[in-house]
Amino acid sequence: MSSSPCPGCGLILPERDAPPPPEHGASPACFSLYGRALEFESRRFAQPPAGRLLLDAYGAQHPLDGGRMARDNLAVHLIALHLALVRRVPADAMPSTLRRALRGRRDFPALPRPASFGALTVAAMFGPDGAPIDDIDAHTDAARAWAEGVWGAWAEQHALVARWVKESGVFGDDD
Ligand SMILES: [Zn+2]
Repeated sequence: MSSSPCPGCGLILPERDAPPPPEHGASPACFSLYGRALEFESRRFAQPPAGRLLLDAYGAQHPLDGGRMARDNLAVHLIALHLALVRRVPADAMPSTLRRALRGRRDFPALPRPASFGALTVAAMFGPDGAPIDDIDAHTDAARAWAEGVWGAWAEQHALVARWVKESGVFGDDD
């Protein structure tokens, strides 16, 4: 079985005979591993403290080139990472905060790709034995570290994303 790198995160995995995922710039094998991580998280933790971090780390690490939907998807992931990591919005407040931050805002611009998408990948959500990280604190720490790495990779867009959030008025005008 031959291996190949994911076009998004670069993770090298044995190739998988499946079509590429339609909404992510990812290899089928990487996307399958992501599916395992999400499935485990939802089954294992009723209210994962990591909230949307897996979703947004993966989405911001595997953007698609192309049309408006791809641009908007990427912008939503970056805004959500900003809210979680910079604004420290707690997981339970994320859905409503994100909804308000995006209210009426669509048709985001295309963003130039960073040179890399960070050192961590969805593989960070698994232990050395290949099993998903089962401890809730370790799971949350791993998700946060991965998300921080992806967010850091997009450093050139941090000011723009902060401006989008500020313009939304979701935090008032105090900063
Ligand atoms: Zn990948």
